[in-house]
Amino acid sequence: MAENKVIYFDNNATTRIAPEVFEAMTPYLTEYYGNPSSIHHFGGQVMEKVDEAKASLAALLGADPANVIFTSCGTESDNAAIFSALLNCPKRKKIVVSKVEHPAVLSLAKELERRGCKVSQIPVDSNGVLDMNAARELIDDETAIVSVMWANNETGNIQDVELLAEIAHKNGALFHTDAVQAVGKIPINLKNSAIDMLSLSGHKLHGPKGIGALYVKRGVRFRPYIIGGHQENGRRAGTENVASIIGLGKAAELALNNIEKENTFVASLRDKLEKTILETIPRVRVNGDIAHRLPNTTNISFEYIEGESILMLLDMFGICASSGSACTTGSLEPSHVLRAMGIPYTCAHGAIRFSFSRYNTMEEVDFVLEKLPPVIARLREISPYWEENK
Ligand code: PLP
Repeated sequence: MAENKVIYFDNNATTRIAPEVFEAMTPYLTEYYGNPSSIHHFGGQVMEKVDEAKASLAALLGADPANVIFTSCGTESDNAAIFSALLNCPKRKKIVVSKVEHPAVLSLAKELERRGCKVSQIPVDSNGVLDMNAARELIDDETAIVSVMWANNETGNIQDVELLAEIAHKNGALFHTDAVQAVGKIPINLKNSAIDMLSLSGHKLHGPKGIGALYVKRGVRFRPYIIGGHQENGRRAGTENVASIIGLGKAAELALNNIEKENTFVASLRDKLEKTILETIPRVRVNGDIAHRLPNTTNISFEYIEGESILMLLDMFGICASSGSACTTGSLEPSHVLRAMGIPYTCAHGAIRFSFSRYNTMEEVDFVLEKLPPVIARLREISPYWEENK
């Protein structure tokens, strides 16, 4: 393998645009620049394409296109869902989220708490599985909305969102799921689902960045988050991001055709990497619910070393992965997800997420398996903790 090639095992951060997506988008950045809201045919033909893209995205979700709203990203969709629920039900001031949500939900919940809402966080066990008994206790008749992610971005854990929706409904609350990491990676069928609202993002499924969508179940009242023109039937104002919408539609179509491949080929890459690491490198552990996770994700802790150091050395070989830590104010804090799981600090600090896509190859896995063990050995040689604990 050429040493200057980028090996991109960070597909939960973002994905490359599929060539077919790029091709579908290009004419709408150049030739067909009409405004979809225009009366004339030049704009009208663009609107037809926007509608087609919505139909493709709805097909991936098993939803009616009328229930899908284009937004600017996953974060906007999450915000729009939660604000809508709070506006709809002013008497209920409580929101229930999980401890392992993405900041798109968790930081919003914290901000809403500052603004007077009550926020409860459902805990998870050591595998990151949601504590359903705690969920039953925390969700009550003060709750306006329960928002729990379908799949976790760090561990890939898949949560039982249908059961949570049921619990929410029993208490008269709405249920929203951040499915940004799930859509395109696992089959989703909202046809008979109890889920009221679902967020997704284009750049996680080989579509462009800066485009997302929110599904709102028929019958659920939606209060717009962005107010202005009449676009999206008054549910999301602003001239449509046409090229990106068309790109997302194409990405959805490709995902629908590739889900099986994702579940077998992509999982085979992940499993080979994970199994070999576990067999050949001492003091490593896989974080998460191994039996219920996305086929493309593994989160592995290398004890007694820093994830950031591993990433920097891997980067020198062109290998891109991600660590579970966030660098805050100069100190390296382990990720809130791993902390919520009670993973010991010595493990949480050395956590690396490898996330794959259909564009990765077994050759790339072999390359990483050749480069990684000496990187770990080298870092452990200079780690005082390793010396004390090995
Ligand atoms: N939710 C989850 C689970 C994510 O992984 C991300 C992105 O990493 C987001 C929300 C935010 O999506 P976007 O980047 O489209 O705003």
